[in-house]
Amino acid sequence: MDIYSTCVIGGGSAGVMAVLRSVLNNDNTLFFPGTKLHRKRSREFWVRKVENMPGHLDYTRGIDQPNKESLKWLEEGLFKDKFHWKKQRGVVDIKKEENNFIITDSEGEVYKAQHVILCTGVMDVQPHIKESIKDILPFANKQTADYCLRCDGHHILNKEVAIIGHTESTAWVSVMLYERYKVPNMMILTNGEKPEFSEDLLKLLSLYKIDVFEEPIEQVLGDKKSGQLDGFILCCGTSVHAQMCFISLGMIVYNELAKSVGAEVDERGFVLTNSKGETNIPNFYVAGDLRAGVKKQIYTAWDTAVDSADDINAKIRRDKRQRLLDQS
Ligand SMILES: Cc1cc2nc3c(=O)[nH]c(=O)nc-3n(C[C@H](O)[C@H](O)[C@H](O)COP(=O)(O)OP(=O)(O)OC[C@H]3O[C@@H](n4cnc5c(N)ncnc54)[C@H](O)[C@@H]3O)c2cc1C
Repeated sequence: MDIYSTCVIGGGSAGVMAVLRSVLNNDNTLFFPGTKLHRKRSREFWVRKVENMPGHLDYTRGIDQPNKESLKWLEEGLFKDKFHWKKQRGVVDIKKEENNFIITDSEGEVYKAQHVILCTGVMDVQPHIKESIKDILPFANKQTADYCLRCDGHHILNKEVAIIGHTESTAWVSVMLYERYKVPNMMILTNGEKPEFSEDLLKLLSLYKIDVFEEPIEQVLGDKKSGQLDGFILCCGTSVHAQMCFISLGMIVYNELAKSVGAEVDERGFVLTNSKGETNIPNFYVAGDLRAGVKKQIYTAWDTAVDSADDINAKIRRDKRQRLLDQS
């Protein structure tokens, strides 16, 4: 069985950057971007226009389209022999065996690699409206329902805004967005949950005239096709007007493969690593949103991926150099 230098798992922002760096470093690289289902559950799939990074405004799918361009270039270019792209495949199991990782893919094929960079990311929790998430998705698709403050916070300028969530971070999201954009009206919809806001935050919400509605959401008002949001109907029949909503319900962290090899995670499930992305399991790296203590952004995903791929390359070169010196 071939032994690959590096196996990259995940085909979003971090995964594609890890592949690009690893292949351009001339390391033999195995790449699993994930199955259709993995992709559909990932942030990569749902990102539309990226406005907070230079040079991305022409893409309508700000991660998927530039990623495809780079992968095609690698597949056809000078380094194609180092690039082993397992299209539409995901990883279902990893084990560490002596110095290698044994990797099983979604088709049951088994591979060996010396190093792994895991980039399976996270997904934002969706609000359940009458026990289903499907009512909010058309608005998420058109970005009148947003999730990421740094990416899309600026969309609320001059708009009436609803923030959906009930935790302390929901209240902080509202306070921060209000202080930045001074919107004409802002409210928090806890969707049937008890608010968990501290006294100080409650005081701030009252000073900023941010009302808190605790009733479950019954219906989203607006045009699903165009994504124009008009507001929400709550359980008691109250209707509230909102042109934008922000969803602040936390994240699902895709850490199963990391945990299965014994990598340590923090209390929220993000994987703990050193500054190069290496976990407590030697040669097992994590990059992108899955890594603890980093901003959940495309440019951070890129930077963490480059750190990991370069650290692996440094190890590979050091080993070769040492063997050469030992033989001389
Ligand atoms: C709506 C929205 C808008 C955003 N807008 C911006 C923005 O404008 N600017 C910005 O900087 N950031 C933005 N972000 C954040 C950005 O999407 C993430 O920071 C970035 O995608 C993280 O990259 P990642 O590679 O860690 O994860 P992802 O890009 O989510 O990629 C995860 C990958 O892992 C794969 N995968 C999962 N499980 C497996 C498996 N078992 N085997 C193989 N593959 C697997 C999936 O197929 C997917 O390819 C936005 C996020 C959201 C939700």
